[in-house]
Amino acid sequence: MTRWVPPRDVLLAWNRDHLWNPFTPMKNYLEEDPVIIERGEGVKLFDVDGRAYWDGYSSLWLNVHGHNVPELNAAVTEQLGKIAHATLLGSANVPAILLAKRLADLAPPGLRKVFFSDSGAEAVEIAVKMAFQYWQNIGRPEKRRFITMTGAYHGDTIGAVSVGAIELFHARFGPLLFPTVRIPYPHAYRHPSGDPEAAARDSLAALEAILRDQADEIAALIVEPVMQGAAGMIRMPDGFMAALADRLRAYDVLLIADEVATGLGRTGAMFAVEHDGVVPDFLTLGKGLTGGYLPVAATLTTDRIYEAFWGEEIEGKTFYHGHSYTGNPLGCAVALANLELMEQRKLLEHVRRLSARAEARLSAFRELPYVGDVRQAGLMIGIEIVRDRATKAPFPREVRIGRKIVARARELGLLTRPLGDVIVFMPPLATPEAALEAMMDILYRAIAEVTEKEAGR
Ligand code: PMP
Repeated sequence: MTRWVPPRDVLLAWNRDHLWNPFTPMKNYLEEDPVIIERGEGVKLFDVDGRAYWDGYSSLWLNVHGHNVPELNAAVTEQLGKIAHATLLGSANVPAILLAKRLADLAPPGLRKVFFSDSGAEAVEIAVKMAFQYWQNIGRPEKRRFITMTGAYHGDTIGAVSVGAIELFHARFGPLLFPTVRIPYPHAYRHPSGDPEAAARDSLAALEAILRDQADEIAALIVEPVMQGAAGMIRMPDGFMAALADRLRAYDVLLIADEVATGLGRTGAMFAVEHDGVVPDFLTLGKGLTGGYLPVAATLTTDRIYEAFWGEEIEGKTFYHGHSYTGNPLGCAVALANLELMEQRKLLEHVRRLSARAEARLSAFRELPYVGDVRQAGLMIGIEIVRDRATKAPFPREVRIGRKIVARARELGLLTRPLGDVIVFMPPLATPEAALEAMMDILYRAIAEVTEKEAGR
C-alpha cells in the first residue's frame, strides 16, 4: 500500500510546525524555500515537484553507487524476508558476521576486529572509550588524555564533540566536555608561510613537545587522515600521516584514524591511511559503508587492543558499550552488497579516473578571481572563496557568500552544502564522467556569477 503524500505546501507547513532539521538555522531555512526530496535515481535527486538536481554532495558525503540501485535494494529486500533486526548483545546475526569478516579482509593489515555502531560519531566514541579502557585494562590508568587537532570534526555527541574543535559547533558546550591537548592540523593555505612543509613541521614540533613531556599521560591521538572534512576540506601535506604515526609509535601513544568521511574509496584509496602506508590502532568508518542506504558504522581495531579486553566477567575487562540497533542485519546486508558492488564494478579505478578529470577541470576554477584555494583528495573537494586573493581576506560574514553560491547552484540544478566560505563538491563515487562534467559546469557558473555580483556591490 502506498502512503498518501500531501501536497508541497502542506509538507512545508508540517516541516515548519514539527520537523526540526539537524545542523540547520531553522529561520533561514524556512525563509529560503526548502527542497523536499521525494526520490532518487542514479546521481539525481527529485523533489516533490518533480524537479531534478544533481547530487553534488552525495546526500551528505555518503552515497556511493547512486540512488535506487537495484542490487542494493535487493539486498535489503532479501534480508527483510528473513529478519529486520536481531541483537548483537550476547548473540550474533549472519550479516553482521559476514560484514565483520569482509571488513577485516579489506582493512589495512592487523585491523582484524570490528565493533559495529549506528553513526560516525558513535564509531568515534567507541574508539575513544576503547583507547581509554585499554590502558586501564593493561594496568596503566594514568594514560587517559587525548591529543586532538585544530578544526577537527568527529561527530556531535558529547564525547565526539570533546575531541572536536570547530568553534561554531563546539565552543558553547565547553563546560560539558572533557579536556584534551590540541595541536595544529597542518593547513598550508592559512599557515603564515603558505608552505605545506612549514605547516607540517610546526604541527609535528607541537606534537613532539607534548609527547616528550606528557606521553605517560596520553592514551591516543585522533585525526582525520589526508583530508579534514567539516573544517573546510583541509588537505594535509603528503607524508604527514606517516610522520605522525611514527612519532606516536615511538612514544607508545595510540592512533585513532577517523575515516568516517575519507574511508571506503572516497580519496581514491580504499582507506586514506593507505596513501602513507599507515596502520592505525583504530579506524572508524560510517557514511559510505552501506552505500548511503542505512545507518551502520564501524570501529576497526587490532588484536593488541582486543586481547586487553579478554577476561572473565569478574575481572572487569569487558567493553560495556552497545546500542539497541548495533549490527542491524538490514544495514549489514546492504553494506555487504555495497562492498561487493564496489569490487565487481572496480569502483576504485573509476574514482581515480574521475578524480583526475575533476583535477583537470579544477585548474580553471583556480583562475577565478575570488577563488583563494582549491583542495582535493580524490572525490573530496573544497573550493575556498575569498574577497581578496592577495591577502586571503574573506567576504564580509553578512554576505554569506557560501550560502549564496550554493543557492545559485541549486537554481541551476545541483545540490550541495557549503562549509562557511568553502564550497563542497563530493559527488557519489560511481558518478558517470558526463554527469561529473555537467555538475562542474554548474559549480563553475554559480561561483563565477555570485562572486562577481557580490564583489561588485
Ligand atoms: N567523523 C568525521 C570525519 C565526519 O566527517 C563525520 C560526519 N561528517 C563524523 C565523524 C560523524 O558522523 P555521523 O554524522 O554519522 O555521526
